[in-house]
Amino acid sequence: MRYQSTRGNSPQQSFLEILLGGLAPDGGLYLPAQYPKVTAAQLDAWRGLSYADLAYEVLSVYCDDIPQAELRSILRKTYTEQVYCNGRSQDNAKDITPIHWLGEEHGTRIGLLSLSNGPTLAFKDMAMQLLGNLFEYALKKKGQHLNILGATSGDTGSAAEYAMRGKDGVKVFMLSPRGKMSAFQSAQMYSLQDPNIFNLAVAGVFDDCQDIVKAVSNDHAFKAKNQIGTVNSINWGRVVAQVVYYFQGYLLATKSSNEKVSFTVPSGNFGNVCAGHIARMMGLPIAHLVVATNENDVLDEFFRTGVYRARKSAETLHTSSPSMDISKASNFERFVFDFMGQDGKATAGIFKQVDETGGFDISKEAVFKELGQYGFQSGRSTHQNRLDTIRNIDQQYGVMIDTHTADGVKVAREHLQAGIPMLVLETALPVKFEETIQEALGRPAECPPAFKDIKSQPQRVENIDADINQIKAFITTHLS
Ligand SMILES: *Cc1c(COP(=O)(O)O)cnc(C)c1O
Repeated sequence: MRYQSTRGNSPQQSFLEILLGGLAPDGGLYLPAQYPKVTAAQLDAWRGLSYADLAYEVLSVYCDDIPQAELRSILRKTYTEQVYCNGRSQDNAKDITPIHWLGEEHGTRIGLLSLSNGPTLAFKDMAMQLLGNLFEYALKKKGQHLNILGATSGDTGSAAEYAMRGKDGVKVFMLSPRGKMSAFQSAQMYSLQDPNIFNLAVAGVFDDCQDIVKAVSNDHAFKAKNQIGTVNSINWGRVVAQVVYYFQGYLLATKSSNEKVSFTVPSGNFGNVCAGHIARMMGLPIAHLVVATNENDVLDEFFRTGVYRARKSAETLHTSSPSMDISKASNFERFVFDFMGQDGKATAGIFKQVDETGGFDISKEAVFKELGQYGFQSGRSTHQNRLDTIRNIDQQYGVMIDTHTADGVKVAREHLQAGIPMLVLETALPVKFEETIQEALGRPAECPPAFKDIKSQPQRVENIDADINQIKAFITTHLS
């Protein structure tokens, strides 16, 4: 499989060539030169496979420069019941992403696709655990080391650290805003004692952390000399790993491949729902992909109106579904490339316009009318909707859901179609956002047994100023 840049002006590369990098040299994102197609017969043949073997079927075409036996063993090592064991019901843990059906509404079944049973209780583990094993494989093969520099407001940093802990050839330097994450989130990260993980608590906010990562990434000499890499959400390996659970969700929800399923996806950077789009482009019978946003509703606005209006950092609201507090969805460019007919020049033009004017408008163009063929729908949810939905799902079905999943359920209910099952992607477990659960339900969030004492574990974290030179100096004195 060859990968092309969405801006059409970079040489095509193989999977292992793009795995450790970030943006393409022309500033675009990588996508496969064509999407592999799946037939109904193939889909039916995949029913009953273990998650790891299903992942092999979906991913082997994308990762075709990894020998087949190696890829299969990496996938079997990654997707085990032992790693994905923190969900609410252990009954179907072997499915790795089991469906928890809520019930019948408006003539169809609505359920949660449980993606948050991994080590950090958010869906980012689904891809990040695989990335950790792929990085280890690729670095060993190339005889290289990698120093991952990242910034987190909570979920990404912990998922990356739990994926990379103890991995040969990899060190992680993770910047987090000191005192700005939930107690649970800080405890998850800072309690890691692995010598290859460095938590840097920056005196500042998340944007300061992200600015420092960007500045270091733009310092090409420093980056090359010190083998600096990232694991941010544009990484193709993360996106493609997420494609697998759309197949798993579909297969678990249907009996035959003539049936259709819809998915609702709580969205921020458009990485998760982009994977759904790719699954659909491959031929998975998805009726609709419903994009659910919170009050930061750039994407909902785009799908409703054809106007894309990126918000400035200062306009990004701090909400109770904080992992979706994003105003410039980095993976959105991958979908733009597809609906622009995979025309790199046109896509580059659109994003030049975004940089210069803050947005683009296709509301009056033919392409906007054609967007329907991609199956997208959208909606938004507010703090009050979130509280109401958490309460309602608890009362009606006896199920406690997190704030992001609640945004998904709220929007999913506005798009139910009789006879087409609706799966809402459960993107985190409630304990990660316990303050809002307490507010909604007046009682504490359920905590998986393995996490009961997490807040009393010893913590390992360095305090540091929001100063790029201090951070560079810290990295160079702790390098691989
Ligand atoms: C990251 C995250 C999201 C948003 O996912 P994207 O891929 O950025 O759209 C939603 N919910 C939770 C809990 C997350 O951690």
